[in-house]
Amino acid sequence: MRHWDDQEVQQLERLLARGAPVEVIAKALKRSTGSVTRKIQRFKKNRPAPKPARRPAVTATSKRKCLACGRLFRSEGIGNRLCGLCKDNLRDMGHLEGVTK
Ligand SMILES: [Zn+2]
Repeated sequence: MRHWDDQEVQQLERLLARGAPVEVIAKALKRSTGSVTRKIQRFKKNRPAPKPARRPAVTATSKRKCLACGRLFRSEGIGNRLCGLCKDNLRDMGHLEGVTK
């Protein structure tokens, strides 16, 4: 069995975080699914409290005026200039395709 180097472990971590199935991870790393499964199990044991999915940092001061309705809202990040309501409205109309997750 080949040794796992840091890069492979990192890639495994990334794929896992994205919710990739073992088969996909195995293919990406050119390893057997058994090898990947064992690695994941060890991984989980070593990290009993995995970090939640990466989230943009929201600071207390990131309040912005919504571009559409002028309401103050808590911005989720750079480029977020619409409040949740307006964003939902736009999304319903299909105008925000690909802008938000
Ligand atoms: Zn708004």
